[in-house]
Amino acid sequence: MNFITFDRLLPGIKNWAVTVQVIDKQKPQVSKKGRRYLKLLLADEKANKIDALIYGSDIDFFRNHFQIYRRFVVSNARLQYADDPLTLEQKTCTMIIDNSTIVEPLDEQQPPLLPPLYQFTPFKKLCHHIDTNSDLDVIGIVVHVNPQSTKGATPIRDIVLTDQSSMAIILTLWGEHATDEGQIIAETIHTQPLIAALRVKATSYGTITLSTKFASCILINPPLQEGPPLRQWAAKNNEAITKAITEKTYENPLELLPPPDAEDITHIGAIVTAPQKKAFWIQGTPKLLDRSQKLWYHACPFCHKSIRSTPEYKITCLSCHRRIHVVARPRITVDFTDWSGNITLDLYGKDAQQLLPYKISEIQQQESENNIPYRAIEECISDNTIICFIKKAPYSYEPSATQKYTAIVAHKIYLAEQGSRLTGAAGSSSA
Ligand SMILES: [Zn+2]
Repeated sequence: MNFITFDRLLPGIKNWAVTVQVIDKQKPQVSKKGRRYLKLLLADEKANKIDALIYGSDIDFFRNHFQIYRRFVVSNARLQYADDPLTLEQKTCTMIIDNSTIVEPLDEQQPPLLPPLYQFTPFKKLCHHIDTNSDLDVIGIVVHVNPQSTKGATPIRDIVLTDQSSMAIILTLWGEHATDEGQIIAETIHTQPLIAALRVKATSYGTITLSTKFASCILINPPLQEGPPLRQWAAKNNEAITKAITEKTYENPLELLPPPDAEDITHIGAIVTAPQKKAFWIQGTPKLLDRSQKLWYHACPFCHKSIRSTPEYKITCLSCHRRIHVVARPRITVDFTDWSGNITLDLYGKDAQQLLPYKISEIQQQESENNIPYRAIEECISDNTIICFIKKAPYSYEPSATQKYTAIVAHKIYLAEQGSRLTGAAGSSSA
């Protein structure tokens, strides 16, 4: 038998064997033609990768093989070119493993560290991918696990990850990721397991959270080269980790989306033509759009869903299913301007309140007396320069020419002098 590496694998070659390490294993899926298949990603010691597929009853035949990270010697597998037209030019080879393939596990206590295979996105850079649905790979230490719950009929479980930036972020595990890996993580949470989450997405739900998709893969304590330094960091930074858990910094927009570096700020002229779903940092001045708008709305105090009820009644929120009394939540619509243009922007909650000279209870009082001091409100709002993280409003009934935007977070900034560069830290940051 000839031991070779993946770069020499071609359909039709004979008498070959490869040593493979399992680096990714998806849940069994059903193809468009109704065929059950299991997809593996295998690596050789030179960090070449190859997809391997196991079909139908052979999935069960190999149920005691191909454990993640373990190494196996494989020979006599069928090789074929991937039928994906996009990869045809590169002649990517796929390995089909069936019950006539010879598969032997290597007798080793610990599999070796995996070759560097992934481009992990640091938590601080996740905001650039928010709501884009792009596949992100992240690595972090699990510091907290919530109990399993359900969304509709689907089991979900939130876990909290942190990386070397000390930023803590929620990863929502869905379906089998919640019941399988979520359960293992919950049982071992006292050990602060290291996980690599592959092909997850970043959403703006709750400012910024990560979420699994069907094709995601959660690797628990993977033998990755990034692992040991991250563990050392966690051991030395217990205080920061405890703070993140007790203060729930993973729910705090100011911690999750702090003011960006200057080079990450875009101008309005550039975003109007940008892809539908991207979010942007912009800096400029707000102006109250019109005086007919109401400056607050009734909302669920937990999930902030707008609800037409009054605070006296206890009701069940249809969005988060908690028993609640609605609360008045600030909301203002402004015309937001920078040097390159202007947009219509909605600000909510604390982001709106920081621009107003009165509390919402005071405004409600003024409203009942039919005496809202709009002039003072307008002046107070336009006195500010703010840096906003914005996205296009999802439920906008207006034509695209007047596309509305929503602020995911807004930081008030202080300019040292008129027209000078930004010097101070963000006004609203809770350091
Ligand atoms: Zn709610």
